[in-house]
Amino acid sequence: MVTKEDLLPWQWEDATWRAIVDKARAGRSLKPKVWQGGAKVAVALSFDSDHETGTLREGEISPGKLSQGQYGSRVGIPRIRNLLSKYDIKASFFVPAVVAKLYPNEQRALVDLGHEIGIHGWIHERNSVLPPDSERDLQFRAADVLEQACGVRPVGIRTPSWDFSQHTLSISREMGLLYDSSLMADDEPYELLEDGEPTGIVELPVEWIRDDAVYFNMNRDTGLRPYTPPASVLEIFKSEFDGAVREGGLFLLTMHPHFIGHRSRIRLLEDLIDYMQGHPDIWFATHAEIAQYCKDNA
Ligand SMILES: [Zn+2]
Repeated sequence: MVTKEDLLPWQWEDATWRAIVDKARAGRSLKPKVWQGGAKVAVALSFDSDHETGTLREGEISPGKLSQGQYGSRVGIPRIRNLLSKYDIKASFFVPAVVAKLYPNEQRALVDLGHEIGIHGWIHERNSVLPPDSERDLQFRAADVLEQACGVRPVGIRTPSWDFSQHTLSISREMGLLYDSSLMADDEPYELLEDGEPTGIVELPVEWIRDDAVYFNMNRDTGLRPYTPPASVLEIFKSEFDGAVREGGLFLLTMHPHFIGHRSRIRLLEDLIDYMQGHPDIWFATHAEIAQYCKDNA
């Protein structure tokens, strides 16, 4: 039998590429007419607490690189926690299982403050290169570890590096998750379809435009440098927020404690929160709260 692996993409039958495209697609919009409490815009702040796992997942063991990850927990998280408390904002933290094992108290403290903890892989592995059985096993075990650390079973997932395999959605379905936040088919929440079938899972879409890593990441061995100054990143994020206000939609921002937590950058986040709070009809909520609201009200 000829399989798709034996053929090049331009040799694929229509049924082959169509099945690939249909594996996880955007279905009906779940954008509500109005947000909770009559708000005109919903703001979902998220922090991917990768810490040391960004290094470990590559099989790298350098204490130098690992120390950059530890900064995320040691300095970044306390600054973020204080800022969110100052403005009384609840946010979502996506945490690899290995990070939850390294820092269980960090996760517990966040949950005690009313923040949400969501699934973010085992060791920040790339789902698209895993055998399906391993991906399933790691995703289930990651949820167990977060539940043990926090006392609450996670209801949502952000795949590490937003890397989604052909099997990720069916695993999330099997787990009965409320939402995913790893895909990019819209600015607004939508229902995920698997093989054309509605899944009931809410997608809260991400985008590289609204991700601090794009602007602030640095790798000394490649040409990757943080070329965009924080003031320019603030302008981009403000424009994305303004657009969400105009359209009565969702503004979802992805950040990383070891990037945004630095002195020159946490200020950017505070300025952005100040700016957003200047708008009268704004609803700050966790991803889980927004997903549930969309499911109930769209
Ligand atoms: Zn991550």
